[in-house]
Amino acid sequence: MQNRAKSSKTKALRGLIYCSKKLGFSTKRYQKELNLLIGKKRPKVLKNSLYKIRLGKGYIDFFFRYPLKLSDIKQWNFKNRSLYKRVYDIAGILSMRNRRYRLKSIKGVRVAQFNSKTIRIVLEDIRPVLSKIAVEGNRLRIYLPRKSKSMKKSAVKRVQKQATRKKIKKRLNTSLSIAPSSKVIVIDPGHGGKDTGAVGYKRKREKDIVLAIAKRVYKELKSKGFRVYLTRRGDYFVTLRNRTKMANRVKANLFISIHANAAPTKRKYLSMKGLETFFLSPARSARAKRIAALENRVDMKNLSYYSKNVFLNFINREKTILSNKLAIDVHRSILAHLRQRYRVSDGGVRPGPFWVLVGAQMPSILVEVGYITNPTEAMRLSNPLYQKYIAKGIAQGVQNYFFHTQTR
Ligand SMILES: [Zn+2]
Repeated sequence: MQNRAKSSKTKALRGLIYCSKKLGFSTKRYQKELNLLIGKKRPKVLKNSLYKIRLGKGYIDFFFRYPLKLSDIKQWNFKNRSLYKRVYDIAGILSMRNRRYRLKSIKGVRVAQFNSKTIRIVLEDIRPVLSKIAVEGNRLRIYLPRKSKSMKKSAVKRVQKQATRKKIKKRLNTSLSIAPSSKVIVIDPGHGGKDTGAVGYKRKREKDIVLAIAKRVYKELKSKGFRVYLTRRGDYFVTLRNRTKMANRVKANLFISIHANAAPTKRKYLSMKGLETFFLSPARSARAKRIAALENRVDMKNLSYYSKNVFLNFINREKTILSNKLAIDVHRSILAHLRQRYRVSDGGVRPGPFWVLVGAQMPSILVEVGYITNPTEAMRLSNPLYQKYIAKGIAQGVQNYFFHTQTR
C-alpha cells in the first residue's frame, strides 16, 4: 500500500474506533485491522520443544514444553512405494535424538527434526494409517490404529475408495461458489412500535408493510439455505443501534434494512414512486439526504452534529465498495422479479447517510421498496403477491452477490 493511502486508512480506522467506542459499538474488528496496518506485532511465541515420548497401550504420548493447540499440528497422508504414511508436523525443537519405533500395530513410528523449525512425526504401515490425535495441555496423544485381522485387502480398498470419494466431494463443494449454509443474513424491517415510519395512502403504515415483506424475505433466504435473522418479528420498537448490534453479534455477512418511502408533500404523492436502494456513504444528492433524514429521525436526537459527521467521514472504504455491489445486485434482482408482472419505475442505486447502516461491520444496504404515499404503490405494497416478488428478488439478489464477489 502506498504511504498516503496507508496513512489515510490508519486515520480512518482510528476515527472509527474512537467513534465506535463513543457509540458503544464493538471496535474489535477495526482494532484488528489497525494492528495489521501499523504492523503491531503479535507477542513473540516461545519456541516449543518436544522433550519426552511415552509409549502407551494403543497410543503414544508426546510431551512438549508449552501447551499445544490442535491447529498447531499439520497432518496429512502420502504413499511412498509400498508404504502408507501419516505425517504430523509441529513447530518446535526436538530436544532428544531422532527416534524410531517398531510396534505391533504399526510398522513404524519415526520422530525427527525435519528442519530448523519443525518436528516431524511419521507413522508408516503397509495399509493406510488411520491414527487419531488428541491434545491436552502440553501433551499430544496419537492413537494408533488397531490391528485387526479382518482388515483384509478389501477393507483397505474400501477405506481408500472412501477417501477418494471424500476428496471429490470436497473439491465439488469448493468449486461451487456459494455455500449458503455458511452465510448469515440479517434482515431489518424498519421502524416498529411507537415508531410507525411513514404513513401513506389509506393510512397504510410503513412499519406494517416492511415487516410483512421482511418475513417473506426471511422465508425465501431460508429456503435457499442461508442462515437468517430478523431484527424484529413483531410490532415493537427497536433502536437503530440495537439492530446493527445484533447483526454484529451474530457475525452476519450481510445486513439488509427494508423500508418504504414517502413523498415530502401532497403535491408529489402521484409523481413520486419507484424502487430505490441505498448503501452507506456520506450523502451526495439532496434526494438521498432528504430520505436519510426521514429514516434517521428516531435515533439521531442523541448525537451531536459533530459526532454524526465525524462518523460519516470515517466510513470504511472497502465495506462501502462491497455494500455498493450488494445494492446493485439486490436492486437489479428486485426489479427483474417485479417486472415479470408489473410496471415499476427504477429509482436507482444511491449512496446515502443512513444511520442504521453505520454500526454494521458487514456490507449493508437499505431498500426503499416503494412509495406508500403513491396510491398505486401503496396498494401493491400491501398485496401479498407483490410482496412475494420483492422477497424473491431480494433473496436472489443476495445469492447473485455472493456469486459475483466469490468468482472474481
Ligand atoms: Zn423507513
